[in-house]
Parts: sequence; structure tokens; C-alpha cells
Amino acid sequence: MPRLRTLAIVAPVVIVHLALPLIFAYAVWRSAASGIANWLPAVYLALTFGAFIYLAGAWSWFGHAVRLLLAGVTVGAAVAGARRSVASPLMSLDVIDLIVRGGVGTMFLIATVSAVRGRRVRGPALDLAFPLRGGTFVIGQGGSTTAVNYHADHPSQAWALDILKLNAAGIRANGLYPAELARYAIYEAEVVGPCDGVIASVEDGVPDRPPPECDEGRPAGNCLAIETETATVFLAHLKSGSILVQVGEQVRVGQSLARVGNSGNTTEPHLHVHAEAGKYAGQMMAGPGVPLRFGGRFLVRNDRITPSHETSADSAASPLKSVSAASGAEAESAETISNADHARDAEDLRQE
Ligand SMILES: [Zn+2]
Repeated sequence: MPRLRTLAIVAPVVIVHLALPLIFAYAVWRSAASGIANWLPAVYLALTFGAFIYLAGAWSWFGHAVRLLLAGVTVGAAVAGARRSVASPLMSLDVIDLIVRGGVGTMFLIATVSAVRGRRVRGPALDLAFPLRGGTFVIGQGGSTTAVNYHADHPSQAWALDILKLNAAGIRANGLYPAELARYAIYEAEVVGPCDGVIASVEDGVPDRPPPECDEGRPAGNCLAIETETATVFLAHLKSGSILVQVGEQVRVGQSLARVGNSGNTTEPHLHVHAEAGKYAGQMMAGPGVPLRFGGRFLVRNDRITPSHETSADSAASPLKSVSAASGAEAESAETISNADHARDAEDLRQE
């Protein structure tokens, strides 16, 4: 049964990221031979789907080079097809093709707009230091819409992030979806304090399971809650037995806290981080979610981060060395909740 579950996860990912872009690009080239009227619906679908999968795809599976290559193939097919369609005789319009490609293309256009909107956050955000060190990391889930962050429609976890690590080949695991935890680059990565604060809760002893097994009974797995003046920060799916701090302990930015594991309701090893406004309320998912910035950046799916670390208390504001050029500008729309303005800003977040 695990094999079937693995296949059910892997097959759609391969089809959507690799097969469909190539099929749509080929359709653009082929339809161009029957004139511009038949070419236009094909290119509309290829470009809208291409834009959506470029922004919202899980590219840590295949790497940034493959992402760029497939985007290049799509654009190349559109350009080559444009020339070919103009030179081709006008044939009768295939109305069924027009309706199907027009409809599905519009669906992807709407999804692309949602993925672009997910790159921005309005209103105040909690500024944190990146909670991992030792390598290059990539955002698996992150952003303000469900197109780029499946947490986005959950009130407490609306701005949660799931963070993965890239290996030397620029992908998140050695293999497509291995069962062996050690084949995921992030497994056992060092989790460090994203802020100064007090440990409000520690959950440990939840076993780390091999993918695709997950523990729906204890969704957060091994988990830490760090209380700051304005919000409570949660770090989840930690490795069993790896937590180095206790409830009531004061922790600082950059302090070693635990290791990344695969405990709880998780499809593969990753670090889940989110913050809720206000003090720790005795459990996770009790307060409204708070947008997060790391070193001034609002991180979204496929953003890559190489933290230049960060061992002292003043490093919360230190810049993160960024590999991704795409998202830096949008972060400027977010403001920081400093430790000085507290309850009022936290209250404002409920309106977001
Ligand atoms: Zn998560």
C-alpha cells in the first residue's frame, strides 16, 4: 500500500511539471500548421498553464534549471509557432478546441493571478531571522494565497511556511519521493532560534516516520512554541529526541533549538513555521495567524535562501543572502511589528 500511495503522489507531480508543459508546447507547434485561428487557443493554453506552473509548481522536486528549461521550451514554441501560423494557410476553426483550450486556459489565467497575488502581503508582518542554517533552503509552501501556500485558508496558519533544503544537485531529495529520511537534504538540519523569546511549549517523543506514512493523530509532531512580546512562533515536525530547550527557558536568535525531522502529519521531512498573534494560549491554532518576514523578505513558494549566519541577538535584522531575485521587491509592502508596538498591531492583524 505505501507503494501505491507513493505512486499516487509522484505520478501527478511528474505529469504536471514535466509532461504537460512538453505536450502543450508540442500542441502549439502542431496547431500552427492549420493557421493562426487554430494556433491562438493552443498558445493561450500553453502560456497560461506555463505561467501558473512556473510560479506555483513544486520545483524543488526537479530543480531550478529544469524550471527555466521548460519555461524556455514553452516560450520558444510560442515564438516559433507564431511564425509558422502566419505562414500557414487558414483552415476552418476547430470550435471544440477553441472552447476547451479557451476555458482551461482561462482557469489557469485566474490561478496565475492568484499565484502572483500570493507574492504580496499587506499590513504589518513579524520580522524573524531564518530558522535554519547550513546550506541553501527553498520554500515549499509560502505566500498569501492557496495557489502558492496550502495553509493560506487556515486562519491561524495563513502565513505558515514549509521549508525544504536543496542538495548539491539543487533538488530537495536524492530520488523523487524516497522512503528513507536521510535522503532528504533537510532531514536533521539544525533548527535555530528565529527570535528572542521564551519557550512556551515543548512536544517531543512523536516518532519520525518514513514517507508516505504520516501521523494524523498528532499533526504538529514534535513541536516548539516560542513566545515573544507580540506573537507566538511555532516550529513543527521536529526530529524525535532532538529538542534542546525546555518550557520557561529564554532563547535567543540563532540559538540551536532542535533538528528537522518527519514527525506528525507530514508528507516528507520539512520545517513548518508559523506565528499567531498574542501570547501562547495553551495550544497551537488558538490565535489569528501573523504574516512573517525573514531578514526583510516575504518568502513565497520556490524562493531560495542561503542564510549567512547569525549567532548573535542583533542578527534578527541581518540580511539573508538571497539566491532568488524575484521576490525581494514585494517584501517592501510589508511593515514590521517591532517589539515596541505590540497589542494594537497584533489586534490589527485580525483584520487582514
Ligand atoms: Zn506546514
